[in-house]
Parts: sequence; structure tokens; C-alpha cells
Amino acid sequence: MQPKQPKGHVNYRKRALEHYHDRLHCWYCGFGFSQILEVAHLDGRRENNAVANLAILCPTCHKMLDLGLISKRIVIAMRDRSRIGQWSKRMKDTGKKAAATRKCNVAALQRKRHLAAVKAAETK
Ligand SMILES: [Zn+2]
Repeated sequence: MQPKQPKGHVNYRKRALEHYHDRLHCWYCGFGFSQILEVAHLDGRRENNAVANLAILCPTCHKMLDLGLISKRIVIAMRDRSRIGQWSKRMKDTGKKAAATRKCNVAALQRKRHLAAVKAAETK
């Protein structure tokens, strides 16, 4: 026999986990062990169990949200954001930069060798 729930009780955890089944990670930091994830009330009112008011967070981020250390707005933005990184944006000019650095290093090495050779010839 299943334990009875008090009348009017809403299992908001179950509701949130089912509704956001494709986002079972902490929306703020990305932590992904679903067993420890918690469901927070964005407006801080435990009686407001509309899915739009529920957020999936790890215990640390849940506490930070409740203390006002992270904003609801950011949690919502992170909920709706893709978790696929755009590496092409970040790595756009790394090839060119690396080539420039190599060129620079080679030139510096050649200068150094040239000066050493000149000094060696002078002190002969
Ligand atoms: Zn977190």
C-alpha cells in the first residue's frame, strides 16, 4: 500500500522532473546527478507549484537562490539555453594566433643566435 499524501498536497518534485525530463541537471551550474537534484520555487512560495515556477537545481545552487545570491532571471535563462557549446566561436582565430607566435619565436631565436655568433666572432 502506498503512503497517503495529505489532501491538497502537490508532488511538485515529481511534477518538475517529469515536465523538465530533458533538462535533468542543475540549471545554474550544470551538475548532473539526478538523484541529488532539488526542485526550487522561483518566487519562494512553496504553494505556487506551477511548472513555470519550479526550477531544477543542485542543493548548493538551490540554497544560493533562496539566499538571493543568484538571480531567478539567470536560472530561467540557463533553463532555456542550449547546453551545446559553440567552440567554433571561441576557437575562431587560434590557428592564426599560434602561427604568429611560432613565427615570433623563430625570429627571436634567430636574432639570439645571430648575436651569439657576432659575439663569438668578436672575442675570437
Ligand atoms: Zn548547481
